[in-house]
Amino acid sequence: MDNLAIDLANLLRWNPDGTPVDRLDLPEWFAPYARRLGAKTDDAALREQLRELRPLVRDWLEKLARRTGRASPGMLAGLNDWIGDVPVNCRLTVEHGRVVRQEQPAAHGARWLAAALGLELAELLTEYEPQRVKVCPNPLCRWVYYDETRGNIQRWCCYECGNRDKVARYRARLKKQTRRK
Ligand SMILES: [Zn+2]
Repeated sequence: MDNLAIDLANLLRWNPDGTPVDRLDLPEWFAPYARRLGAKTDDAALREQLRELRPLVRDWLEKLARRTGRASPGMLAGLNDWIGDVPVNCRLTVEHGRVVRQEQPAAHGARWLAAALGLELAELLTEYEPQRVKVCPNPLCRWVYYDETRGNIQRWCCYECGNRDKVARYRARLKKQTRRK
């Protein structure tokens, strides 16, 4: 799963003490992301546009995850606003031996960027299984991911986050028990 909207949401991380780390400010993260958008790897205007759009993108993804993949009319209207009046170029390419249709907004700038990200969100609804979009419940992680397990049963983004929760619940149980004694 390669999705520009999900990856943008995940460019904001948190340290264990809760302070945010904005990976848009780190060239090793920003440069490859900008390249995927077909932009220059030091495009400062793009960086700020992404920073502005990111909370909207994350909010939309978190809503989708909370609603287990069912986009509300409001969420669809929001997407339509983003992608609605931007001219789109259609192209057919071959990926893994299969012909796929690619839609690229024709203009550039902030509107284009919103549309490009909106199309990535739309693709989750139309080409994928939106009920597989999830947000890691660890409050210091909140990694957005696409659950590729067969039964769609992954709860945490990774082993560490799941284990952290297990340890925390064990400690809480222990505390309760010692208080009772
Ligand atoms: Zn996590």
